[in-house]
Amino acid sequence: MKQVISAVCIHCGHEVEATPTITTCPKCGGILDIKYDYKWISAHVTRETLERRSDRTMWRFREFLPVEGTARRPRLRVGGSPLYDCQNLADRLGIRKLYVKDDGVNPTASLKDRASAMAVVKAEEARADTIACSSTGNAASSLAGNAAAAGFRTYIFVPSRAPKGKVSQLMIFGANVISVKGSYEDTFRLSAEAIDRWGWYNRNAAINPYLMEGKKTVALEIAEQLNWNMTDYVAISVGDGCTISGVWKGFTDLYAAGLIDKLPRLISVQAEGCCPLNRAIQTDTAWEPMEENTIADSIAVGVPRNPDKALRAIRESNGICVNVSDEEILAAMRLLGRTCGVFGEPAGVTGTAGVKKAVELGLIPSDATVTSVVTGNGLKDTANAIAAAGEPIAIAPDMDLLLEAFRKTGGPQ
Ligand SMILES: *Cc1c(COP(=O)(O)O)cnc(C)c1O
Ligand SMILES: [Zn+2]
Repeated sequence: MKQVISAVCIHCGHEVEATPTITTCPKCGGILDIKYDYKWISAHVTRETLERRSDRTMWRFREFLPVEGTARRPRLRVGGSPLYDCQNLADRLGIRKLYVKDDGVNPTASLKDRASAMAVVKAEEARADTIACSSTGNAASSLAGNAAAAGFRTYIFVPSRAPKGKVSQLMIFGANVISVKGSYEDTFRLSAEAIDRWGWYNRNAAINPYLMEGKKTVALEIAEQLNWNMTDYVAISVGDGCTISGVWKGFTDLYAAGLIDKLPRLISVQAEGCCPLNRAIQTDTAWEPMEENTIADSIAVGVPRNPDKALRAIRESNGICVNVSDEEILAAMRLLGRTCGVFGEPAGVTGTAGVKKAVELGLIPSDATVTSVVTGNGLKDTANAIAAAGEPIAIAPDMDLLLEAFRKTGGPQ
């Protein structure tokens, strides 16, 4: 991998060789970050080389990824999600432009597929046969799907609150599923112990530094889809903090390689009932654990696993922090559905809820251009979708009953 120099600890600066099995810093336990040779990258990839490429998956950006150019690609089609110019919604929110990146169209219906596809390639390099992770739900279902397609066995730990849709994905993909009666934090600790005991390949968020490199491809795609004209802001929902760090890594990679000449400001959006990272920034103090009190299960992370990278990303980008209530999240589900035809799960639309709130609070100006990433599909959690949008008219097959129902609901007469 000529593009990769090493893996550097973000805590103590210790550098290690970027082998497939690295996890945290051997010296201090800090989180590692893959370091690239941007000279090599800019000599080997330009806007024009990318334009000529027909591969629309995340692997179209292979020079920016920590894999051999010749590595076997996973079979599932990860990445290449659409970026919609949602002028209706931009007008409704009172901003100049709103682009919605719908990552719910990935094979297992969330942005996590970008990380899991990377995990599978690295596990293959490490000659592992079993991959394990703990997850609030989407990392689990995406690992299960991507691993199944590549022939790996998986052990997956989820908190018992994980929505049925996500658990059903795990079962269909043939994962060994352990549903833990406890918080995400409890689930994470048990998985770490099991991974140590049985030596499985570790796909845990933050622990494995390659996962973020997969996630950053969403930023690379956004930049290319915007024709390299970066929006002023990029909004993203935040749980462990790996996604927002990955997004920032993607943009800074492009900047360092000379493909973009402006960096966006990040909008970090968390749920009011669980916002340890945003609170740390807003109060300018060290982060502290919080309860996991929100319907947005994918970002109900009371003890974030990647706080340092996430806080650094938000600060470096001169970012904005917004916390939204569960009601605001449900409202954003309706709004995205009704104005853009995009169906997101609660954590999937939290970024958009944050854009709306940031405008209302005067945190972003009305001439701003914004990209909002929808990180997960709404079909994963239909109970909350119904909670957001309500039940349909339900009647026996009779025209009089239909007329009566229409009279009550203001329908046609
Ligand atoms: C995982 C996830 C997030 C947040 O990503 P983190 O890396 O945990 O911050 C947001 N939305 C959805 C749908 C997710 O699955
Ligand atoms: Zn270290």
